[in-house]
Amino acid sequence: MADDNDHRIVSQVPSVPDSDISLSNVSRRAVLKHAAALGAGAALSLRPLFAKLPRVDSNTTHGRIDVHHHMLPPFYMDLRRAVPDVGKMPAWSASKSLEDMEKNGVSTAMLSLAVSGVTFDAGEAGRSLARKSNDFGAQLVKDHPASFGLLAALPLPDPKGSLAEMEYALDTLHANGIALLSSYGDKWLGDATYEPVFEELNRRKAVVFVHPNAPNCCVNVLPHVPASTMEFYFDTARTIESLLLNGTFSRFPNVQFIFSHGGGAMPILANRMARLFPKDLASYAPNGVLYELKRQYYDTASASNPTSLGAIMSIVPSSQIVFGSDFPFLSAGEVVSDLMHSGLPGAMVDAISRDNAVRLFARMKG
Ligand SMILES: [Zn+2]
Repeated sequence: MADDNDHRIVSQVPSVPDSDISLSNVSRRAVLKHAAALGAGAALSLRPLFAKLPRVDSNTTHGRIDVHHHMLPPFYMDLRRAVPDVGKMPAWSASKSLEDMEKNGVSTAMLSLAVSGVTFDAGEAGRSLARKSNDFGAQLVKDHPASFGLLAALPLPDPKGSLAEMEYALDTLHANGIALLSSYGDKWLGDATYEPVFEELNRRKAVVFVHPNAPNCCVNVLPHVPASTMEFYFDTARTIESLLLNGTFSRFPNVQFIFSHGGGAMPILANRMARLFPKDLASYAPNGVLYELKRQYYDTASASNPTSLGAIMSIVPSSQIVFGSDFPFLSAGEVVSDLMHSGLPGAMVDAISRDNAVRLFARMKG
C-alpha cells in the first residue's frame, strides 16, 4: 500500500491549470521541444530542470481515469476462503474505492475482478464466476454512474461460454470493455482455441484489459516469492509474445489491448523479441514486432516509478500510456505522486492521466 506521504504530497500541491505553467527562463515550448528531441524516456532525466516548477496535473477538476481498479465482491471472497493456502486480500468495498478516488482526483474507475486464488475453469463454475462478477460490477455502475465503468470478465478457457458472456456483458450490461488474464492454465492469449473470441472482440472494436496471472508452469518456481513479485511481469511479456507469434495483433487490429503494469517485462525484452522473431512467422507481424508493440496500450500500475516509466516510454509513445492504480492493493496516490514528480511535461501527464483513456474508450463506442 502507498503510505500517507503520498496523500500528503498530493494535498499540498497547489491547483495549477496546465495553461498557467510557466518556466522561468525556459519556455514551455522549448522544454517540450527538448523533451521531444531527447525522446520521452529521456525526458524523465530532466528532473533537475523541472525541480523548481509548479507541479503539474494537480487540477483534479478534469478527473483522472483509472483503468486498473479492482473490485472484490463478497461472493468472490467467500470462494477464496474455501481455497487452502491463498494469500490475504485487502478489505474492499465500493465506498473504499470512492474514498481513494476522491482523495486522489480519480473521477472514473474501470472496475475489474481481482482474480487470485480462484480463477475461471472451462465448465459451469467459470461461467458462473464471470456472470456473477459482471452482474455485481454492473450494479455498482448503475449505483454510481459518474464514478464507475466496467471491464467485464469472460470465462476464457471456454471460448463458447466466453462468446455468450461477451454478448451479455457488452449488449445487455453495456460494459466499457473486457478484462482477460494473461494466461489460463497453461494457455496464453494467442492460443488458437481463443481465435473465435478475438474475432468477435475485433468486430466489436473492444477494449481488452489484460491482467497478469501465474500460469500452471510457473507457480512457486522460487519458494517464498509471490507471483505478483516477478511472475506477473514475465507472464504479461509471455502473453504479448504469444499474441505476436500467433498473429493475433496483426489479424485483429481493432482489438484495443491495455496491458497491466507497463507491459511487465516487455519493455526490457522488446528489442530482443523483435530481433529474434522467427523468420518463418514474419507474415504474422507484417509491419514488424515493434510496430505492434507501439500501438497497444499500457497502464501505470506499479510502473510509474522513473525506472519502469522510462522503460515503457522508451518503447511506446506517451499516447499509449494510461493511468492505472491497482486499487485496493495500492492507492492511486502512488501513481499521482510519481507522475507529478516525473519531470514529464504537463500536457503529457494530463494525457496519461485522462485524455488517452477518453480517446481509447470513445473509439470502442464508435
Ligand atoms: Zn491488478
